[in-house]
Amino acid sequence: MGSSAAIPLRPLGLTSAQFVTRSREAGRRGAPRDEYKALFRQGIVPPGCELTDHPVTATLVEGETSKFVLRHEDGLETESVLIPMPRASGTTTTLCVSSQIGCAMGCRFCETAQMGLLRNLRADQIVHQWWAGTHRVERASGNTIKNIVFMGMGEPTDNIDEVIQAIRVLVDHDGAMVPASNISISTVGNPDGIAKIGELVRENGFHRLNLALSLNAPNDEIRSSIMPVNKAWPMARLKDALLAFPRFSQAAFCVEYVLIPGVNDADAHCDEVCAFLRDIRCSLNVIPYNPRRNSPWPAPAESDVERFIARAVANGQFTKRRGTKGRDVMAACGQLGNEKIRNRKLISDVGISTPVSLGMPPHAARDAEKQA
Ligand code: SF4
Repeated sequence: MGSSAAIPLRPLGLTSAQFVTRSREAGRRGAPRDEYKALFRQGIVPPGCELTDHPVTATLVEGETSKFVLRHEDGLETESVLIPMPRASGTTTTLCVSSQIGCAMGCRFCETAQMGLLRNLRADQIVHQWWAGTHRVERASGNTIKNIVFMGMGEPTDNIDEVIQAIRVLVDHDGAMVPASNISISTVGNPDGIAKIGELVRENGFHRLNLALSLNAPNDEIRSSIMPVNKAWPMARLKDALLAFPRFSQAAFCVEYVLIPGVNDADAHCDEVCAFLRDIRCSLNVIPYNPRRNSPWPAPAESDVERFIARAVANGQFTKRRGTKGRDVMAACGQLGNEKIRNRKLISDVGISTPVSLGMPPHAARDAEKQA
């Protein structure tokens, strides 16, 4: 038998079939499919397998929303956010995952953009965020993670192969079993990336994967001024990519619109956005701008948010506004890395097998940090 230590396995980046094959190649004994199930369902790491990242630092963000950090072997960190979502049937939890450390897209309203791109995450490091949130952090609160949104740090289409592999792992029936309909990918609109997601959506089992577009502007001039990627992928190209995207019933398609005072919030802007979206079957999600550090813009007045939404509805566009504070935090790519999230207010370092309560108020968290 070969040594399992000689070929380290990173099972969080593998589907069950891949894990079985790689286990056999490594000459491991035992029942790899059972080990895989135990890893994803009970959090038991199989012998000879590596998770590589060192969980977990948990941070209270605001209210019931919480962030946790995975520290990687190279010292860089990944942020993920757990957001309780009140529903008629009870509270569910949404996990907002990162696909990169930092981001190269340079959106001017975004905190993460200030970091630039440090590196891509591997599929196992993306899935590790779900695994840690499920087995090392979230278990303490009693809620299981229901939905996963790729709206954390990074642009998913800029790391699309690893993102797609991570999704294949997350939906695996022998593993995490997250329904594709509970997963959303948010993108600034790379047409090639949208086409690759479309290829995945055409596969059986992935028809109901959700796509969200971070639009944020009514025309190319404004969009290019706040989202430099628009110069490479102007809105007409984006629209072609969206119209070509396979649409299966019940899959949600959201267009995110961060409302920034004096930039994109005029009545004429609203009319222009609605005209752009007219032949795209979608929900327009209006998100009041959440000022990043040193932001050139303030948050919009409540009356302006209401005016914009009322006008979009009058234009015949199905329109929603983010409701709760927790949702505001994750509302769109680029709204995640706001100051409240990026400021490190450490509650505690959490050992690999010790869940943490996230219910500590911020002042207590600061005290804990001082004592550390
Ligand atoms: S908004 Fe999203 S795509 Fe734009 S810089 Fe921020 S993380 Fe990147």
